[in-house]
Amino acid sequence: MSDQTIYDVVVIGSGPGGYVCAIRAAQLGLKVACVEKDNVLGGTCSNVGCIPSKALLSVSEKYEQATHQFAGLGIEVGTPKFNLAKMMAHKDKVVADNTKGITFLLKKNKIDHVVGLGEIVAADTVKVGPTLLKTKNIVIATGSEVTPLAGIEVDEKTIVTSTGALSLEKVPGHMVVIGGGVIGLELGSVWQRLGAKVTVVEYMDRILPTMDGDVSKEMKKIFAKQGIEFKLSTKVAKAEKTKQGVNLTLEAAEGGKSETLTADVVLLAIGRRAYTKGLGLEAVGVKTDNRGRVEIDDHFQTNVKGIYAIGDVVRGAMLAHKAEDEGVVLAEIIAGQSGHINYDAIPGVVYTHPEAASVGKTEEELKAAGVAYKAGKFPYMANGRARAMSATDGFVKILADAKTDRVLGCHIVGAEAGTLIAEVVSVMEFGGSAEDIARTCHAHPTLNEVVKEAALAVDNRALHI
Ligand code: FAD
Ligand code: NAD
Repeated sequence: MSDQTIYDVVVIGSGPGGYVCAIRAAQLGLKVACVEKDNVLGGTCSNVGCIPSKALLSVSEKYEQATHQFAGLGIEVGTPKFNLAKMMAHKDKVVADNTKGITFLLKKNKIDHVVGLGEIVAADTVKVGPTLLKTKNIVIATGSEVTPLAGIEVDEKTIVTSTGALSLEKVPGHMVVIGGGVIGLELGSVWQRLGAKVTVVEYMDRILPTMDGDVSKEMKKIFAKQGIEFKLSTKVAKAEKTKQGVNLTLEAAEGGKSETLTADVVLLAIGRRAYTKGLGLEAVGVKTDNRGRVEIDDHFQTNVKGIYAIGDVVRGAMLAHKAEDEGVVLAEIIAGQSGHINYDAIPGVVYTHPEAASVGKTEEELKAAGVAYKAGKFPYMANGRARAMSATDGFVKILADAKTDRVLGCHIVGAEAGTLIAEVVSVMEFGGSAEDIARTCHAHPTLNEVVKEAALAVDNRALHI
Protein backbone atom coordinates (compact mmCIF):
# COMPACT_ATOMS: atom_id res chain seq x y z
CA MET A 1 0.00 0.00 0.00
CA SER A 2 1.59 3.33 -1.02
CA ASP A 3 1.60 6.47 1.12
CA GLN A 4 -0.90 7.97 -1.29
CA THR A 5 -3.67 5.52 -0.38
CA ILE A 6 -6.54 7.28 1.32
CA TYR A 7 -8.08 4.96 3.86
CA ASP A 8 -11.68 5.12 4.99
CA VAL A 9 -10.62 4.17 8.51
CA VAL A 10 -7.32 3.96 10.34
CA VAL A 11 -7.73 2.15 13.66
CA ILE A 12 -5.01 2.76 16.25
CA GLY A 13 -4.69 -0.27 18.54
CA SER A 14 -5.43 -3.94 17.87
CA GLY A 15 -7.10 -5.00 21.12
CA PRO A 16 -10.67 -6.34 21.10
CA GLY A 17 -11.98 -2.83 20.43
CA GLY A 18 -9.60 -2.03 17.58
CA TYR A 19 -9.34 -5.29 15.67
CA VAL A 20 -13.09 -5.97 15.85
CA CYS A 21 -13.84 -2.43 14.64
CA ALA A 22 -11.38 -2.96 11.76
CA ILE A 23 -13.01 -6.27 10.77
CA ARG A 24 -16.56 -4.88 10.84
CA ALA A 25 -15.51 -1.80 8.84
CA ALA A 26 -13.84 -4.06 6.25
CA GLN A 27 -16.95 -6.27 6.11
CA LEU A 28 -18.90 -3.13 5.22
CA GLY A 29 -16.60 -2.47 2.27
CA LEU A 30 -14.38 0.19 3.81
CA LYS A 31 -10.62 0.41 3.19
CA VAL A 32 -9.04 -0.11 6.60
CA ALA A 33 -5.62 -0.05 8.27
CA CYS A 34 -4.96 -1.22 11.82
CA VAL A 35 -1.89 0.26 13.53
CA GLU A 36 -0.35 -1.63 16.46
CA LYS A 37 2.78 -0.56 18.35
CA ASP A 38 3.49 -4.05 19.67
CA ASN A 39 4.82 -6.84 17.48
CA VAL A 40 1.79 -9.01 18.16
CA LEU A 41 -1.85 -8.21 17.59
CA GLY A 42 -4.63 -8.62 20.16
CA GLY A 43 -3.88 -5.97 22.79
CA THR A 44 -4.13 -6.42 26.53
CA CYS A 45 -6.95 -8.95 26.30
CA SER A 46 -5.19 -11.56 24.16
CA ASN A 47 -1.62 -11.06 25.34
CA VAL A 48 -1.64 -10.13 29.03
CA GLY A 49 -5.31 -10.05 30.05
CA CYS A 50 -8.44 -12.13 29.53
CA ILE A 51 -6.90 -15.03 27.63
CA PRO A 52 -3.70 -15.85 29.57
CA SER A 53 -5.46 -15.28 32.91
CA LYS A 54 -8.23 -17.70 31.94
CA ALA A 55 -5.65 -20.26 30.81
CA LEU A 56 -3.98 -20.17 34.25
CA LEU A 57 -7.33 -20.09 36.05
CA SER A 58 -8.43 -23.15 34.13
CA VAL A 59 -5.31 -25.26 34.78
CA SER A 60 -5.00 -24.22 38.41
CA GLU A 61 -8.66 -25.05 39.00
CA LYS A 62 -8.12 -28.55 37.60
CA TYR A 63 -5.15 -28.99 39.93
CA GLU A 64 -7.20 -27.70 42.87
CA GLN A 65 -9.98 -30.19 42.08
CA ALA A 66 -7.53 -33.07 41.78
CA THR A 67 -5.94 -32.09 45.10
CA HIS A 68 -8.99 -31.33 47.20
CA GLN A 69 -12.11 -32.69 45.54
CA PHE A 70 -11.41 -35.89 43.63
CA ALA A 71 -10.88 -38.08 46.69
CA GLY A 72 -14.25 -37.07 48.16
CA LEU A 73 -15.91 -38.02 44.87
CA GLY A 74 -14.26 -41.44 44.82
CA ILE A 75 -11.48 -40.66 42.37
CA GLU A 76 -8.11 -41.78 43.64
CA VAL A 77 -5.16 -40.24 41.84
CA GLY A 78 -2.53 -40.26 44.57
CA THR A 79 -0.95 -36.92 45.44
CA PRO A 80 -1.26 -34.62 42.41
CA LYS A 81 1.84 -32.69 41.40
CA PHE A 82 2.10 -29.78 39.05
CA ASN A 83 4.72 -28.58 36.62
CA LEU A 84 4.65 -24.78 36.54
CA ALA A 85 6.76 -24.54 33.39
CA LYS A 86 4.26 -26.76 31.54
CA MET A 87 1.33 -24.75 32.85
CA MET A 88 3.00 -21.59 31.57
CA ALA A 89 3.73 -23.28 28.23
CA HIS A 90 0.01 -24.10 27.92
CA LYS A 91 -0.84 -20.45 28.65
CA ASP A 92 1.74 -19.20 26.12
CA LYS A 93 0.40 -21.52 23.44
CA VAL A 94 -3.17 -20.36 24.05
CA VAL A 95 -2.00 -16.75 23.71
CA ALA A 96 0.00 -17.50 20.54
CA ASP A 97 -2.94 -19.35 18.95
CA ASN A 98 -5.24 -16.46 19.74
CA THR A 99 -2.97 -13.75 18.39
CA LYS A 100 -2.22 -15.80 15.26
CA GLY A 101 -5.97 -16.07 14.78
CA ILE A 102 -6.28 -12.28 14.83
CA THR A 103 -3.44 -11.92 12.29
CA PHE A 104 -5.33 -14.37 10.06
CA LEU A 105 -8.61 -12.46 10.47
CA LEU A 106 -7.01 -9.13 9.50
CA LYS A 107 -5.49 -10.74 6.41
CA LYS A 108 -8.73 -12.48 5.50
CA ASN A 109 -10.56 -9.15 5.65
CA LYS A 110 -7.82 -7.37 3.63
CA ILE A 111 -7.01 -4.98 6.45
CA ASP A 112 -3.53 -3.42 6.27
CA HIS A 113 -1.65 -4.28 9.45
CA VAL A 114 0.81 -1.46 10.16
CA VAL A 115 3.41 -2.13 12.87
CA GLY A 116 4.52 0.87 14.93
CA LEU A 117 3.36 3.64 17.25
CA GLY A 118 0.49 5.58 15.69
CA GLU A 119 0.60 9.33 16.21
CA ILE A 120 -2.28 11.53 15.07
CA VAL A 121 -0.69 14.51 13.35
CA ALA A 122 -3.88 15.88 11.75
CA ALA A 123 -7.57 14.95 11.68
CA ASP A 124 -6.87 13.02 8.48
CA THR A 125 -3.33 11.74 9.09
CA VAL A 126 -1.74 9.10 11.29
CA LYS A 127 2.04 8.99 11.38
CA VAL A 128 3.73 5.63 11.94
CA GLY A 129 7.49 6.05 11.91
CA PRO A 130 8.30 7.75 8.62
CA THR A 131 4.97 6.71 7.03
CA LEU A 132 1.98 9.02 6.84
CA LEU A 133 -1.37 7.24 6.58
CA LYS A 134 -4.05 9.45 5.04
CA THR A 135 -7.58 8.64 6.12
CA LYS A 136 -11.16 9.89 6.25
CA ASN A 137 -11.70 8.58 9.81
CA ILE A 138 -9.45 7.73 12.76
CA VAL A 139 -10.46 5.34 15.55
CA ILE A 140 -8.51 5.55 18.81
CA ALA A 141 -8.57 2.11 20.46
CA THR A 142 -5.39 2.37 22.49
CA GLY A 143 -6.73 0.72 25.63
CA SER A 144 -5.44 1.07 29.15
CA GLU A 145 -2.49 0.48 31.45
CA VAL A 146 -2.09 -0.39 35.13
CA THR A 147 -2.81 2.45 37.56
CA PRO A 148 0.39 3.06 39.54
CA LEU A 149 0.46 3.56 43.31
CA ALA A 150 2.76 6.17 44.85
CA GLY A 151 5.64 4.53 46.69
CA ILE A 152 5.16 1.13 45.02
CA GLU A 153 7.84 0.56 42.43
CA VAL A 154 6.88 -2.19 39.99
CA ASP A 155 9.77 -4.38 38.73
CA GLU A 156 7.58 -7.25 37.43
CA LYS A 157 9.62 -9.68 39.55
CA THR A 158 8.87 -9.06 43.23
CA ILE A 159 6.42 -6.18 42.81
CA VAL A 160 4.32 -7.14 39.85
CA THR A 161 1.30 -6.01 37.92
CA SER A 162 -1.07 -8.54 36.36
CA THR A 163 1.47 -8.93 33.55
CA GLY A 164 4.21 -10.16 35.90
CA ALA A 165 1.72 -12.24 37.90
CA LEU A 166 0.91 -14.17 34.71
CA SER A 167 4.52 -15.26 34.31
CA LEU A 168 6.02 -15.90 37.76
CA GLU A 169 8.77 -18.49 37.59
CA LYS A 170 7.94 -20.04 40.96
CA VAL A 171 5.05 -20.09 43.38
CA PRO A 172 5.59 -17.35 45.97
CA GLY A 173 5.47 -18.36 49.62
CA HIS A 174 3.38 -15.29 50.45
CA MET A 175 1.70 -13.11 47.84
CA VAL A 176 0.19 -9.82 48.97
CA VAL A 177 -2.37 -8.46 46.55
CA ILE A 178 -3.09 -4.74 46.67
CA GLY A 179 -6.70 -4.35 45.49
CA GLY A 180 -9.60 -6.74 46.06
CA GLY A 181 -11.04 -6.25 42.58
CA VAL A 182 -11.30 -8.58 39.61
CA ILE A 183 -7.57 -8.96 38.86
CA GLY A 184 -6.60 -9.34 42.52
CA LEU A 185 -9.13 -12.13 43.05
CA GLU A 186 -8.58 -13.96 39.76
CA LEU A 187 -4.78 -13.97 39.91
CA GLY A 188 -4.75 -14.29 43.71
CA SER A 189 -6.86 -17.46 43.23
CA VAL A 190 -4.41 -18.87 40.68
CA TRP A 191 -1.43 -18.60 43.01
CA GLN A 192 -3.39 -19.62 46.12
CA ARG A 193 -4.47 -22.83 44.36
CA LEU A 194 -0.85 -23.54 43.47
CA GLY A 195 0.20 -23.22 47.11
CA ALA A 196 0.89 -19.56 47.88
CA LYS A 197 -0.47 -17.94 51.00
CA VAL A 198 -2.46 -14.99 49.62
CA THR A 199 -3.40 -11.84 51.52
CA VAL A 200 -5.62 -9.27 49.79
CA VAL A 201 -5.37 -5.68 51.01
CA GLU A 202 -8.44 -3.70 49.96
CA TYR A 203 -9.00 -0.01 50.51
CA MET A 204 -12.80 -0.24 50.66
CA ASP A 205 -14.77 -2.11 53.33
CA ARG A 206 -15.62 -4.93 50.91
CA ILE A 207 -14.10 -6.83 48.03
CA LEU A 208 -15.50 -6.35 44.51
CA PRO A 209 -16.88 -3.00 45.69
CA THR A 210 -18.67 -2.17 42.44
CA MET A 211 -20.67 -5.41 42.42
CA ASP A 212 -23.91 -6.09 44.31
CA GLY A 213 -23.37 -6.18 48.08
CA ASP A 214 -24.65 -9.76 48.38
CA VAL A 215 -22.10 -10.88 45.78
CA SER A 216 -19.25 -9.18 47.65
CA LYS A 217 -20.31 -10.80 50.94
CA GLU A 218 -20.77 -14.31 49.52
CA MET A 219 -17.54 -14.21 47.49
CA LYS A 220 -15.54 -13.07 50.52
CA LYS A 221 -16.99 -15.90 52.60
CA ILE A 222 -16.13 -18.47 49.92
CA PHE A 223 -12.60 -17.12 49.29
CA ALA A 224 -11.93 -17.08 53.03
CA LYS A 225 -12.97 -20.76 53.15
CA GLN A 226 -10.49 -21.42 50.34
CA GLY A 227 -7.75 -19.84 52.47
CA ILE A 228 -7.38 -16.30 51.11
CA GLU A 229 -6.93 -13.69 53.84
CA PHE A 230 -8.44 -10.23 53.59
CA LYS A 231 -7.47 -6.93 55.11
CA LEU A 232 -10.36 -4.62 54.31
CA SER A 233 -10.57 -0.85 54.87
CA THR A 234 -6.80 -0.92 54.70
CA LYS A 235 -4.22 0.73 52.50
CA VAL A 236 -0.58 0.09 51.78
CA ALA A 237 1.37 3.08 52.99
CA LYS A 238 4.88 1.87 52.15
CA ALA A 239 6.64 -0.98 50.37
CA GLU A 240 10.34 -1.62 50.87
CA LYS A 241 12.18 -4.20 48.82
CA THR A 242 14.58 -6.38 50.75
CA LYS A 243 16.84 -9.26 49.71
CA GLN A 244 14.08 -11.70 50.75
CA GLY A 245 11.08 -9.92 49.28
CA VAL A 246 9.06 -6.88 50.25
CA ASN A 247 8.17 -5.32 53.60
CA LEU A 248 4.80 -3.62 53.47
CA THR A 249 3.40 -1.09 55.92
CA LEU A 250 -0.38 -1.20 56.05
CA GLU A 251 -2.63 1.46 57.50
CA ALA A 252 -6.17 0.77 58.57
CA ALA A 253 -8.67 3.40 57.42
CA GLU A 254 -9.87 6.14 59.75
CA GLY A 255 -6.86 6.31 61.98
CA GLY A 256 -6.74 2.59 62.83
CA LYS A 257 -3.56 0.76 63.73
CA SER A 258 -0.76 0.29 61.24
CA GLU A 259 0.87 -3.12 60.76
CA THR A 260 3.60 -4.68 58.68
CA LEU A 261 3.50 -7.64 56.33
CA THR A 262 6.31 -9.46 54.60
CA ALA A 263 5.67 -10.70 51.08
CA ASP A 264 7.66 -12.71 48.58
CA VAL A 265 5.66 -11.15 45.77
CA VAL A 266 3.35 -8.13 45.76
CA LEU A 267 0.66 -7.86 43.07
CA LEU A 268 -0.48 -4.32 42.39
CA ALA A 269 -4.07 -4.44 41.10
CA ILE A 270 -5.83 -1.22 42.02
CA GLY A 271 -7.39 -0.57 38.63
CA ARG A 272 -6.37 0.54 35.15
CA ARG A 273 -6.24 3.94 33.45
CA ALA A 274 -6.67 5.10 29.87
CA TYR A 275 -3.54 4.83 27.70
CA THR A 276 -2.89 7.75 25.34
CA LYS A 277 0.92 8.11 25.48
CA GLY A 278 2.48 9.18 22.19
CA LEU A 279 -0.88 9.53 20.42
CA GLY A 280 -0.49 13.25 19.85
CA LEU A 281 -3.91 14.17 21.24
CA GLU A 282 -2.83 17.63 22.40
CA ALA A 283 -1.40 18.54 19.00
CA VAL A 284 -4.72 17.89 17.25
CA GLY A 285 -6.79 19.21 20.16
CA VAL A 286 -8.63 16.00 21.15
CA LYS A 287 -10.07 16.55 24.64
CA THR A 288 -9.61 14.16 27.55
CA ASP A 289 -11.53 14.13 30.86
CA ASN A 290 -10.18 14.50 34.39
CA ARG A 291 -9.24 10.79 34.42
CA GLY A 292 -7.28 11.02 31.19
CA ARG A 293 -9.98 9.24 29.14
CA VAL A 294 -10.72 10.42 25.62
CA GLU A 295 -14.00 12.35 25.66
CA ILE A 296 -16.62 11.17 23.18
CA ASP A 297 -20.22 11.92 22.28
CA ASP A 298 -23.01 9.32 22.02
CA HIS A 299 -21.63 8.27 18.63
CA PHE A 300 -18.04 7.76 19.85
CA GLN A 301 -16.86 10.95 18.13
CA THR A 302 -14.33 13.12 19.94
CA ASN A 303 -14.51 16.91 19.82
CA VAL A 304 -12.51 16.69 16.56
CA LYS A 305 -14.68 15.66 13.57
CA GLY A 306 -13.63 12.33 12.08
CA ILE A 307 -11.66 11.20 15.16
CA TYR A 308 -13.46 8.58 17.25
CA ALA A 309 -12.56 6.50 20.32
CA ILE A 310 -13.73 3.20 21.84
CA GLY A 311 -12.87 0.62 24.49
CA ASP A 312 -10.83 1.07 27.66
CA VAL A 313 -9.58 4.49 26.54
CA VAL A 314 -13.12 5.95 26.92
CA ARG A 315 -15.70 6.03 29.73
CA GLY A 316 -17.46 2.92 30.97
CA ALA A 317 -16.54 -0.59 32.06
CA MET A 318 -13.07 -1.78 31.07
CA LEU A 319 -14.24 -5.03 29.52
CA ALA A 320 -13.25 -6.74 26.29
CA HIS A 321 -16.84 -7.39 25.15
CA LYS A 322 -17.79 -3.75 25.80
CA ALA A 323 -14.82 -2.68 23.64
CA GLU A 324 -15.82 -5.18 20.91
CA ASP A 325 -19.45 -4.06 20.83
CA GLU A 326 -18.36 -0.43 20.62
CA GLY A 327 -16.03 -1.38 17.75
CA VAL A 328 -18.87 -2.99 15.79
CA VAL A 329 -21.34 -0.16 16.35
CA LEU A 330 -18.77 2.51 15.51
CA ALA A 331 -17.79 0.77 12.26
CA GLU A 332 -21.48 0.68 11.31
CA ILE A 333 -21.92 4.38 12.15
CA ILE A 334 -18.85 5.30 10.04
CA ALA A 335 -20.31 3.22 7.17
CA GLY A 336 -23.47 5.31 7.34
CA GLN A 337 -25.62 2.89 9.30
CA SER A 338 -26.96 3.43 12.79
CA GLY A 339 -26.45 1.47 15.94
CA HIS A 340 -26.49 1.71 19.69
CA ILE A 341 -25.28 -0.11 22.77
CA ASN A 342 -27.45 -0.84 25.80
CA TYR A 343 -24.95 -0.13 28.55
CA ASP A 344 -27.46 -1.47 31.10
CA ALA A 345 -27.11 -4.94 29.62
CA ILE A 346 -23.34 -5.46 29.65
CA PRO A 347 -22.44 -8.45 31.80
CA GLY A 348 -19.37 -8.60 34.01
CA VAL A 349 -17.87 -11.90 35.12
CA VAL A 350 -15.23 -12.79 37.71
CA TYR A 351 -13.70 -16.09 36.57
CA THR A 352 -12.76 -17.51 39.96
CA HIS A 353 -14.27 -20.64 41.46
CA PRO A 354 -17.08 -20.19 41.92
CA GLU A 355 -17.64 -17.48 39.34
CA ALA A 356 -19.47 -14.23 40.01
CA ALA A 357 -21.52 -12.60 37.29
CA SER A 358 -23.56 -9.43 37.16
CA VAL A 359 -25.69 -7.47 34.75
CA GLY A 360 -27.74 -4.31 35.17
CA LYS A 361 -28.38 -2.50 38.41
CA THR A 362 -27.27 -3.64 41.86
CA GLU A 363 -29.63 -3.43 44.85
CA GLU A 364 -27.51 -0.57 46.19
CA GLU A 365 -27.93 1.37 42.92
CA LEU A 366 -31.70 0.81 42.84
CA LYS A 367 -32.06 1.93 46.46
CA ALA A 368 -29.95 5.03 45.83
CA ALA A 369 -32.06 5.90 42.76
CA GLY A 370 -35.30 5.35 44.72
CA VAL A 371 -36.54 2.68 42.28
CA ALA A 372 -39.20 0.35 43.70
CA TYR A 373 -38.05 -3.22 42.98
CA LYS A 374 -38.67 -6.81 43.95
CA ALA A 375 -35.82 -9.28 44.53
CA GLY A 376 -35.99 -13.02 43.92
CA LYS A 377 -33.13 -15.15 45.22
CA PHE A 378 -32.51 -18.87 44.90
CA PRO A 379 -29.56 -20.89 46.26
CA TYR A 380 -27.52 -23.39 44.24
CA MET A 381 -27.85 -25.72 47.25
CA ALA A 382 -31.50 -26.35 46.36
CA ASN A 383 -30.70 -27.38 42.76
CA GLY A 384 -30.28 -31.07 41.94
CA ARG A 385 -27.67 -30.57 39.24
CA ALA A 386 -25.57 -28.35 41.52
CA ARG A 387 -25.63 -31.09 44.16
CA ALA A 388 -24.72 -33.71 41.54
CA MET A 389 -21.78 -31.52 40.48
CA SER A 390 -20.75 -30.89 44.07
CA ALA A 391 -21.13 -27.18 43.32
CA THR A 392 -23.61 -25.98 45.92
CA ASP A 393 -22.03 -22.63 46.84
CA GLY A 394 -23.82 -19.52 45.66
CA PHE A 395 -27.12 -18.07 44.49
CA VAL A 396 -28.91 -16.30 41.68
CA LYS A 397 -30.61 -13.00 42.51
CA ILE A 398 -32.94 -11.29 40.06
CA LEU A 399 -34.09 -7.71 40.59
CA ALA A 400 -37.27 -6.65 38.83
CA ASP A 401 -39.27 -3.43 38.70
CA ALA A 402 -41.96 -3.62 41.42
CA LYS A 403 -44.69 -2.35 39.08
CA THR A 404 -43.81 -3.65 35.62
CA ASP A 405 -41.78 -6.77 36.58
CA ARG A 406 -39.14 -5.73 34.00
CA VAL A 407 -35.75 -7.26 34.87
CA LEU A 408 -33.42 -4.51 36.10
CA GLY A 409 -30.48 -6.60 37.24
CA CYS A 410 -29.18 -10.05 37.96
CA HIS A 411 -26.36 -11.11 40.26
CA ILE A 412 -24.98 -14.60 40.43
CA VAL A 413 -22.39 -16.35 42.56
CA GLY A 414 -21.85 -19.98 41.66
CA ALA A 415 -20.53 -22.52 39.20
CA GLU A 416 -20.83 -21.34 35.57
CA ALA A 417 -22.29 -18.00 36.66
CA GLY A 418 -20.70 -16.39 33.58
CA THR A 419 -22.61 -18.74 31.31
CA LEU A 420 -25.89 -18.55 33.22
CA ILE A 421 -25.99 -14.75 33.11
CA ALA A 422 -26.30 -14.79 29.29
CA GLU A 423 -29.96 -15.81 29.50
CA VAL A 424 -30.78 -12.83 31.68
CA VAL A 425 -28.76 -10.47 29.45
CA SER A 426 -30.89 -11.57 26.46
CA VAL A 427 -34.11 -11.07 28.38
CA MET A 428 -32.96 -7.59 29.44
CA GLU A 429 -32.06 -6.74 25.83
CA PHE A 430 -35.64 -7.54 24.86
CA GLY A 431 -37.03 -5.56 27.80
CA GLY A 432 -38.35 -8.80 29.30
CA SER A 433 -39.76 -9.49 32.76
CA ALA A 434 -39.02 -11.91 35.58
CA GLU A 435 -42.29 -13.62 34.61
CA ASP A 436 -40.88 -14.18 31.09
CA ILE A 437 -37.93 -16.10 32.56
CA ALA A 438 -40.16 -17.96 35.01
CA ARG A 439 -42.55 -19.07 32.23
CA THR A 440 -39.72 -20.22 29.93
CA CYS A 441 -39.10 -23.97 29.98
CA HIS A 442 -35.63 -24.73 31.41
CA ALA A 443 -34.11 -28.17 30.86
CA HIS A 444 -33.84 -30.43 33.90
CA PRO A 445 -31.46 -31.00 35.54
CA THR A 446 -29.44 -27.87 34.74
CA LEU A 447 -27.91 -25.04 36.70
CA ASN A 448 -30.11 -22.77 34.56
CA GLU A 449 -33.01 -23.88 36.72
CA VAL A 450 -31.49 -21.75 39.51
CA VAL A 451 -32.12 -18.74 37.25
CA LYS A 452 -35.71 -19.84 36.63
CA GLU A 453 -36.33 -20.38 40.35
CA ALA A 454 -34.89 -16.94 41.17
CA ALA A 455 -37.30 -15.46 38.61
CA LEU A 456 -40.18 -17.36 40.26
CA ALA A 457 -38.96 -16.09 43.64
CA VAL A 458 -39.46 -12.49 42.45
CA ASP A 459 -43.18 -13.31 42.77
CA ASN A 460 -42.67 -15.42 45.91
CA ARG A 461 -43.43 -18.67 44.10
CA ALA A 462 -40.16 -20.56 43.86
CA LEU A 463 -41.02 -24.25 43.68
CA HIS A 464 -38.08 -26.08 45.15
CA ILE A 465 -37.48 -24.23 48.39
P1 FAD B 1 -6.41 -3.04 24.62
O1 FAD B 1 -6.76 -4.46 24.62
O2 FAD B 1 -5.63 -2.52 25.78
O3 FAD B 1 -5.60 -2.77 23.28
C1 FAD B 1 -5.03 -1.55 22.99
C2 FAD B 1 -3.90 -1.77 21.99
O4 FAD B 1 -3.48 -0.50 21.50
C3 FAD B 1 -2.67 -2.42 22.59
O5 FAD B 1 -2.29 -3.52 21.81
C4 FAD B 1 -1.60 -1.33 22.52
O6 FAD B 1 -0.30 -1.83 22.30
C5 FAD B 1 -2.07 -0.51 21.33
N1 FAD B 1 -1.63 0.88 21.32
C6 FAD B 1 -1.70 1.80 22.32
N2 FAD B 1 -1.27 2.99 21.89
C7 FAD B 1 -0.91 2.83 20.59
C8 FAD B 1 -0.40 3.70 19.59
N3 FAD B 1 -0.20 5.01 19.83
N4 FAD B 1 -0.12 3.18 18.38
C9 FAD B 1 -0.31 1.87 18.11
N5 FAD B 1 -0.81 1.01 19.01
C10 FAD B 1 -1.12 1.49 20.23
N6 FAD B 1 -11.97 -8.14 30.17
C11 FAD B 1 -12.98 -9.01 29.99
O7 FAD B 1 -14.01 -8.64 29.41
N7 FAD B 1 -12.90 -10.30 30.44
C12 FAD B 1 -11.81 -10.75 31.10
O8 FAD B 1 -11.77 -11.92 31.48
C13 FAD B 1 -10.73 -9.86 31.31
N8 FAD B 1 -9.62 -10.27 31.94
C14 FAD B 1 -8.58 -9.40 32.10
C15 FAD B 1 -7.46 -9.84 32.79
C16 FAD B 1 -6.39 -8.99 32.99
C17 FAD B 1 -5.17 -9.49 33.73
C18 FAD B 1 -6.44 -7.67 32.47
C19 FAD B 1 -5.27 -6.74 32.64
C20 FAD B 1 -7.55 -7.22 31.79
C21 FAD B 1 -8.64 -8.07 31.62
N9 FAD B 1 -9.80 -7.66 30.97
C22 FAD B 1 -10.85 -8.53 30.81
C23 FAD B 1 -9.94 -6.30 30.42
C24 FAD B 1 -9.67 -6.31 28.91
O9 FAD B 1 -8.39 -6.83 28.67
C25 FAD B 1 -9.81 -4.91 28.35
O10 FAD B 1 -11.07 -4.37 28.70
C26 FAD B 1 -9.67 -4.92 26.83
O11 FAD B 1 -8.44 -5.45 26.43
C27 FAD B 1 -9.82 -3.50 26.28
O12 FAD B 1 -9.70 -3.55 24.90
P2 FAD B 1 -9.17 -2.29 24.05
O13 FAD B 1 -9.24 -2.73 22.63
O14 FAD B 1 -9.90 -1.08 24.45
O15 FAD B 1 -7.67 -2.07 24.51
P1 NAD C 1 -10.77 -3.13 39.84
O1 NAD C 1 -11.31 -1.78 39.67
O2 NAD C 1 -11.61 -4.31 39.53
O3 NAD C 1 -10.31 -3.34 41.35
C1 NAD C 1 -9.40 -2.51 41.97
C2 NAD C 1 -9.60 -2.64 43.48
O4 NAD C 1 -8.54 -1.98 44.11
C3 NAD C 1 -10.90 -2.01 43.96
O5 NAD C 1 -11.56 -2.92 44.79
C4 NAD C 1 -10.43 -0.77 44.71
O6 NAD C 1 -11.28 -0.40 45.77
C5 NAD C 1 -9.07 -1.21 45.20
N1 NAD C 1 -8.12 -0.14 45.47
C6 NAD C 1 -7.96 1.04 44.80
N2 NAD C 1 -6.94 1.74 45.33
C7 NAD C 1 -6.43 0.99 46.35
C8 NAD C 1 -5.37 1.15 47.25
N3 NAD C 1 -4.59 2.22 47.22
N4 NAD C 1 -5.14 0.17 48.15
C9 NAD C 1 -5.92 -0.95 48.21
N5 NAD C 1 -6.95 -1.15 47.35
C10 NAD C 1 -7.19 -0.21 46.43
O7 NAD C 1 -9.40 -3.14 39.03
P2 NAD C 1 -8.43 -4.33 38.63
O8 NAD C 1 -8.76 -5.54 39.41
O9 NAD C 1 -7.07 -3.76 38.69
O10 NAD C 1 -8.83 -4.57 37.12
C11 NAD C 1 -8.68 -3.52 36.16
C12 NAD C 1 -9.70 -3.61 35.09
O11 NAD C 1 -9.53 -4.78 34.31
C13 NAD C 1 -11.09 -3.65 35.66
O12 NAD C 1 -11.78 -2.53 35.18
C14 NAD C 1 -11.71 -4.89 35.15
O13 NAD C 1 -12.98 -4.66 34.60
C15 NAD C 1 -10.77 -5.39 34.08
N6 NAD C 1 -10.67 -6.84 34.28
C16 NAD C 1 -11.75 -7.61 34.01
C17 NAD C 1 -11.72 -8.96 34.25
C18 NAD C 1 -12.93 -9.78 33.97
O14 NAD C 1 -13.82 -9.29 33.28
N7 NAD C 1 -13.01 -11.01 34.46
C19 NAD C 1 -10.58 -9.55 34.76
C20 NAD C 1 -9.49 -8.73 35.05
C21 NAD C 1 -9.55 -7.38 34.79
